[in-house]
Amino acid sequence: MGKDSQAKKSVKQPEQAAPPVSTQSFAGATTVPRSEHAISRKQLSPSALKVLYRLKDNGFEAYLVGGCIRDLLLGLEPKDFDVVTNATPEQVKRCFNNCRLIGRRFRLAHVMFGREIIEVATFRGHHDAPEDDPKEEETPKELAKKTSRASGEGQLLRDNVYGSIEEDAERRDFTVNALYYSINDFSIHDFAGGLKDIDKGIIDLIGDPETRYREDPVRMLRAIRFATKLRMTIAPRTETPMYELAHLLRNIPPARLFDESLKLFLAGKAEDNFQMLREFGLFRYFFPVVDQVLTGNDQDKEEILVRQMFQNTDERINSGKSVSPAFILAALMWYPLEAHANELAIEGGLHPYDAFQIASNDILQKMIKTVAIPKRFSAIMREIWQFQHRLTKTQGRRPVQLAENPRFRAAYDFLILRAEAEGGELTQLAEFWTEFQKSDEAKEAAIRASKARHRPVVPGEKTNAPAATDGPNKKGPYKKRRRRPKPKNTDTQSS
Ligand code: ATP
Ligand code: MG
Repeated sequence: MGKDSQAKKSVKQPEQAAPPVSTQSFAGATTVPRSEHAISRKQLSPSALKVLYRLKDNGFEAYLVGGCIRDLLLGLEPKDFDVVTNATPEQVKRCFNNCRLIGRRFRLAHVMFGREIIEVATFRGHHDAPEDDPKEEETPKELAKKTSRASGEGQLLRDNVYGSIEEDAERRDFTVNALYYSINDFSIHDFAGGLKDIDKGIIDLIGDPETRYREDPVRMLRAIRFATKLRMTIAPRTETPMYELAHLLRNIPPARLFDESLKLFLAGKAEDNFQMLREFGLFRYFFPVVDQVLTGNDQDKEEILVRQMFQNTDERINSGKSVSPAFILAALMWYPLEAHANELAIEGGLHPYDAFQIASNDILQKMIKTVAIPKRFSAIMREIWQFQHRLTKTQGRRPVQLAENPRFRAAYDFLILRAEAEGGELTQLAEFWTEFQKSDEAKEAAIRASKARHRPVVPGEKTNAPAATDGPNKKGPYKKRRRRPKPKNTDTQSS
């Protein structure tokens, strides 16, 4: 029987495999044997198990690590399953047909199983450690990648020094994330006291917090995200330096901050995360444009709109509904946009429509300096914003025409938010649209809008319908036939 089929057999009948005789242990780590923890292979992703067994069968060490083990111990469903191994990325690639190498800062292997991706990382080592002897298989190019680089502020720009499991554990962020589940004997190795912290409900960095934040300031955002997600408390020593070091977020590439913002706002804890980001003074480095209009007074429209939007977002996510990042961002940036448009209209003497267009460009342009909003989202944001003016047209056939637009629903939801924040005339306008949607002609228009959203775009067809989906990296079935020249002063970020 080949190694492959052995692995498959083990995956199919995981709990029947004979348990190994002895449990491996590491100096400095607490090891919990299979008999003393509750994680069963039935709870693990079959794809992750395949990866672990394949690596093991090829003579490598392989572990599940990080969030998946932490979450399973807490009775939560893991978001993803991360594997770590002593195989180099190139060696991992050779074990799988369905594998590609990615990343510069961290070089990683992605093993693909349909839509599921199992991320396989090689044990990271210390940066000041002497380099190991070159391994036979490594080409000079590979060796060149086996380096780390730090900025003047102690931030790691590249982190490809490979090491042992012990070193790998020290390079992880929080104690609760340094738990390793071994495929050899199904034991859990705890290198940093993570099991105790899980029991106590504490998020604590491994090592000296200031150094760890300087190496990677995103760890401040991660501390907040895990504290809210896991309902844990950030340890005082891990919390204190955040106030002082919040400014280090300035050094994070906008594309990474965009990714982090989605993680913070799309996981059902957006409101709590938003509050904590502000408490620690992090929000202003994240969304400076938005922070400038937030007054701190709960009764102000700027505060109400953002808080309400995050509450709605959390409610939708927690009841299994989808949310659009474009909607969240459009809401966050609405009042900065409105303030800037008013300024341009009054001080610059511009027509309100022109002022609004220019202000939209300006605000997006400012925004992408810290958070790189991909164009597929900013295009929708613009539509939602512009629609707010169109919704004031309530006479004749206009309502029906507007209701046919695929962006109508998002624009209406946004109007409701604004009405909640401001009251007055907006409440009447919102009521008009709420009532209007109950009419037969509006229902028919909604059906037409829905059909337009789901109809594939025919090349060359003239349509006002924006892309129906705004999921990540969704490319339409057809290439654009012609690229229009880019207007100046527009957001030019791509994903
Ligand atoms: P979740 O997937 O639920 O967001 P996670 O802990 O699995 O949480 P990932 O971003 O998937 O988070 O990362 C997997 C593991 O990689 C983490 O548990 C941690 O051990 C390590 N890790 C991730 N980001 C960092 C970082 N910035 N610094 C140090 N270690 C990190
Ligand atoms: Mg994870």
